[in-house]
Amino acid sequence: MRSRATHSTALAVLVLLAAGSAPRSQSAATAHRPNVLFLYTDDHAADALSAYRPGLIETPNLDRIARDGALFRNAFCGNSICGPARATVLTGLHSHANGFCRNGDRFDGSQTTFPKLLRAAGYATAVIGKWHLGSEPTGFDHWEVLPGQGQYYNPDFDTPAGRVRFEGHSTEVVTERALRWLREGRPSDRPFVLMCQFKAPHRPWLPGPRELQLLADADIPLPPTLFDDWSGRGPASREQEMTVARHLFLAYDLQCPVDEDEELFGAYTAALRRMTPAQRATWDRAFEAENAAFRADPPTGRALVEWKCRRYLRNYLRCVLGVDRAVGRLLDALDELGIADDTLVVYSSDQGFYLGDHGWYDKRWMYEESLRVPLLMRWPGHLAPGTTIDALVQNIDFAPTFVDLAGLPVQDAMHGTSLVPLFDGVAPVWWRTSIWYRYYDGIPVHAVPGHRGVRTATHKLMVFDRPELGTELYDLRADPDELHSIADSEEAAGIRRDLEAELRRQGQRYGDRE
Ligand code: CA
Repeated sequence: MRSRATHSTALAVLVLLAAGSAPRSQSAATAHRPNVLFLYTDDHAADALSAYRPGLIETPNLDRIARDGALFRNAFCGNSICGPARATVLTGLHSHANGFCRNGDRFDGSQTTFPKLLRAAGYATAVIGKWHLGSEPTGFDHWEVLPGQGQYYNPDFDTPAGRVRFEGHSTEVVTERALRWLREGRPSDRPFVLMCQFKAPHRPWLPGPRELQLLADADIPLPPTLFDDWSGRGPASREQEMTVARHLFLAYDLQCPVDEDEELFGAYTAALRRMTPAQRATWDRAFEAENAAFRADPPTGRALVEWKCRRYLRNYLRCVLGVDRAVGRLLDALDELGIADDTLVVYSSDQGFYLGDHGWYDKRWMYEESLRVPLLMRWPGHLAPGTTIDALVQNIDFAPTFVDLAGLPVQDAMHGTSLVPLFDGVAPVWWRTSIWYRYYDGIPVHAVPGHRGVRTATHKLMVFDRPELGTELYDLRADPDELHSIADSEEAAGIRRDLEAELRRQGQRYGDRE
């Protein structure tokens, strides 16, 4: 008895010690070592997912994950751009620490990643689809990845055996390859992690043949901030080159060729040349009547901006609907294979996106639309159906979560925290109260200047690298669209000081340097 009492006292002390800061590991849910099906899209805004925002489109299969599991209301990226987000997912580290800060960087595949840790612990590991990290995948038993950004139609894949091309739309091909691995490729006697990563709905928004006719007559609502002049923000918003009005091209972005000298016209024709004659015929039929009407009587001024925004949104949303259908097929396959109860399904995207909000498309900024990501999880028996989670979570948390679920100790070096303690819907008292963000200067595309910031449940501070661009501060409760920076208001001086201190503290914690 005495030794047991001593043991439990020692255990209690350890538990108390751990409670002072985020415990590095949670053991409660780890005995099961679930499979992990990680579904990841490129540029999917949470607003284009009906579990988050009813009324724009219906995404019944994505909603099914939320209905049968959990929806995270406050999930964010740490650097709102494709490659860096993917490097963070693999490593659990912010960009400066994993060395991949900008698209075009090359991922150092020799560093620790969660697939490597899970593989060493007996998991079968696979990645299929978008990769975008420059170097070859490491830590995977099986990989088939799109070179670079990948192609929508008849995509090439890089594999250990070389480059192969599959006929079809990339969303469907990625799904077929993933289904094939689930059904025939994986060893059935071990848990697995499958990263199934779609190109959609990335620019230039080429929907698949099955989606081209959808939403043709839909009344697509335009965002109330489409004609924002950014006058309530700092000067940085006026520098960018991502407006619907001036930076969406009729041919490349909107499938309405008018002028062969238009920028990116060559890229537009190259994308069409990849299509088979049957694909091309379906494509032309989808756009020809509306394009003829446009050419006969082109809108101008605000009407042209609205036309562009609707055309952009229609094709973007069609790409999302293709993903939704693909997710439904993958969920059905888990049922057919009898492994749904043993599989954690995760759905997320590398960053958010502007759906015409503030007059923009694209991402990069720490403003809400591009900072926020959709995050849905399903794990029967461990996540109650219909759970909503309000805690602030970030893409640094994926790797520690998967490591934790595999029964492994979470690496101290990782920046993120296992999400498992949130699975009952209640955040523990030690959970983070702010997230840290950094976007890097030196990326010429879209001209978004470098900035750092912190976001709490109620406020956001953004500090631009170039001093003349200043600091912005938003009260997200009073001003959820971030139309009026209060950085220079006297009433907000206290919260600004607090958040500037928090930004310094977080930067030091993560080892951020210039
Ligand atoms: Ca992306």
